[in-house]
Amino acid sequence: MIRFESVQKRYPGGTVAVEDFSCTIPSHTATVLVGSSGSGKTTLLRMINRMVDPSAGRVLIDDQDVATTDKVALRRSIGYVMQASGLLPHRTVQDNVATVPMLTGTPKREARAAALDLLETVGLDRGLATRYPSQLSGGQQQRVGVARALASDPNILLMDEPFGAVDPIVRGELQTELLRLQSELGKTIVFVTHDIDEAFLIGDQVVILRPGGEVAQAGTAEEILAAPADDFVERFIGADRGRRALRLEERDGTRIVVDGTGRAAGVLQAAEGDPAVPDGPAKDRA
Ligand code: ADP
Ligand code: MG
Repeated sequence: MIRFESVQKRYPGGTVAVEDFSCTIPSHTATVLVGSSGSGKTTLLRMINRMVDPSAGRVLIDDQDVATTDKVALRRSIGYVMQASGLLPHRTVQDNVATVPMLTGTPKREARAAALDLLETVGLDRGLATRYPSQLSGGQQQRVGVARALASDPNILLMDEPFGAVDPIVRGELQTELLRLQSELGKTIVFVTHDIDEAFLIGDQVVILRPGGEVAQAGTAEEILAAPADDFVERFIGADRGRRALRLEERDGTRIVVDGTGRAAGVLQAAEGDPAVPDGPAKDRA
């Protein structure tokens, strides 16, 4: 479990990126922080692996204050996926994935063999292993980024707008793949996006942020859609595309989110005890 306790971040220069944020992120579930650009999402995410230190308040992982942990060890023990895949351009795909395990003492042969398996885990052909990042499509690069983040078998996976730079169809594929992966791996995922559709699709818990990292509403997609906390949330979940007013519908016993045109925008998490992701994901977003 990850807990933010009244964290604040004031950057040198005076910008208060986060005023006073508290939130509990349960283990083995996906929590999505969603908000407009500049609302403090990246700042909050990076507090978890100490790429950013809070100016006040604490972040706890399983009741341990991260400020008391070794920075480098912490960072290596937590998977981190960025929008720009952040792959090392002069290393092959396989070596990009194997880098962190090798740094932490896994023998090279073993790390490289595990890397091949991980490529398959994220839906990539092993034949891509010897390529360099520039020889991959944007979507493939992001998959390698996910494989690399999983390489140290972290309990926690941080994802900062990981699918933001790819086209909508590839984004849909990557989202579906992440849901599948998560149903198998059950990591504690903290996922940041500005896209409310993506937030509802990925998040077991969705936290909608106002500027300054202020929580406008936190809950499941269903709770937020059923009872938006205020006008801000209502605008946020219905915004961007005017025609799109999201609502809940039940089809063949599955609760789905549909937009104003009746098109499925996402599937709601199955009830407790059911598999996290229904078979044949009805996430046709094209
Ligand atoms: P988001 O990820 O939601 O777009 P960020 O956490 O990146 O938001 O940024 C929140 C605010 O903090 C913005 O106003 C941004 O300009 C500012 N900020 C982010 N990083 C820095 C930094 N290193 N130095 C100064 N200001 C920063
Ligand atoms: Mg950001």
